[in-house]
Amino acid sequence: MSILYNFSAGPSTLPLPVLEKASRELIDFEGCGISLIEMSHRGKIYDKIHNETINLAREILEIPENFHIIFIQGGATLQFGMIPLSFLNKGMTADYIVTGSWSKKAFNDGKAVGITNIAWDGEGCNYNKIPSQGEIQLTKNAAYVHLCSNETIGGIQWQSFPETDGVPLIIDMSSEIMSRPLPWEKIGMAYAGTQKNLAPAGMSLIIINKSLAQKARTDLPSYLRYDLHIDKNSLYNTPPTFVIWMTNLTLNWIKSIGGLSMIEKLRDEKAKLIYDIIDQSNGFYINSIEKKSRSKMNIIWRLSEEKLEKKFLEGVEQAGLDGLKGHRSVGGFRASIYNAMPVEGVKTLSDFMKKFMDKNG
Ligand SMILES: *Cc1c(COP(=O)(O)O)cnc(C)c1O
Repeated sequence: MSILYNFSAGPSTLPLPVLEKASRELIDFEGCGISLIEMSHRGKIYDKIHNETINLAREILEIPENFHIIFIQGGATLQFGMIPLSFLNKGMTADYIVTGSWSKKAFNDGKAVGITNIAWDGEGCNYNKIPSQGEIQLTKNAAYVHLCSNETIGGIQWQSFPETDGVPLIIDMSSEIMSRPLPWEKIGMAYAGTQKNLAPAGMSLIIINKSLAQKARTDLPSYLRYDLHIDKNSLYNTPPTFVIWMTNLTLNWIKSIGGLSMIEKLRDEKAKLIYDIIDQSNGFYINSIEKKSRSKMNIIWRLSEEKLEKKFLEGVEQAGLDGLKGHRSVGGFRASIYNAMPVEGVKTLSDFMKKFMDKNG
C-alpha cells in the first residue's frame, strides 16, 4: 500500500491512527456485534460516544461552562444563514469583517436576511492582510460582529481577535479549529465545518455563549433553531453519527499526542518549513500576504513563471504529494497543513520545493 501525503483543503487528511481504528471497528463496534453507524442514536452505546465527544471538545479547547457545544448538519455554509436568521432582528445591523472569500460568503448570506455593514473590506489590498483594530469600523450596538479566523482560500489568519465593545463576536473557524487555544472571554460563538481539521464532511461543531444563545429566535423552522439543538443536546433529530464518531476519534488522538500545546507546536514547525523556503527563494516562490497575517494552516504560493507551475505540479505528484493545486479562483499552489498532516509530509514538500528551485531557478 502506498499512501500519498494529502494537502487537500477539505475534505482533507485525517490522522492515520484514526482511520485505522475506524476501519477496524466499522463492522463490529467494540465487540458489540454491529456497527456504530447502524445503531439507534437513542441507544446507550451511541449515547456514550456522543457525550464523550462533547466532553473531549470542552476539555481540549478549555471551553468554559458558560458555553454550549452543539453539532448541526449542513457544514459551515448553513451557519452563514442560521446566524443572521437567528440574531439579526429587524432594525438591527450586523457587522462583517471581510478578509477573503469565506467571510465574503458569510456576509452575502447576512445581507440576504437583514441590514449588514462591512466593518472592514480587504478588497482594496487584494485580501493580503488582516486589519488592525483601528481600521475596523464597528456599528454601535450591532447584533454581532462576524469574521473568519483563517481564510482557507486566501491563506491569511487572525493571530488575535479584535475588541468589539460588548457586541458578540462570531467566528468561522472551519479551517483552524483545534489548532490553538482560544480566548473564550472575547468570543460569542465559534463554529467550524468538520471536514478540515476534525472528521469527514457532514456537520459543524458549534460553540456558543449561553447569553448569546438566549437571544436566538425561536420562531423559525425547527432545524434552524439553536435553542432546540441546545435543549436536546444535539439529538433533536438524527445526528450524523458517523461524523460524530470520527470527531471523537480525532479528539482522542489530539489528546493522546499532548493536546493543543503539542498541536500548536507542530503547526508552527510545519508552517515554518514552507515559509522559510519561500522567503529564502529570492522571488522564485511568491507569497503576497503580509507576514504577520500569514496562515499557519493554508499556505499559498505562486511561481515567478507560469510555465514552471505546470512542471512543478507534475513534479509534486511524482513525489507522492497530493492536493497542492491552488483554489480555482486564485491559481498557484496551496498546502493545507492541518493537524493530521505529519511533519514528515511537510518536510517532503519543502525538500521538493528546494530541489525544484535549485534545478529551475
Ligand atoms: C470550507 C469552509 C467553509 C464551507 O464549509 P462547508 O462545510 O462546505 O459549508 C466555510 N468557511 C471556511 C473558512 C471554510 O474553510
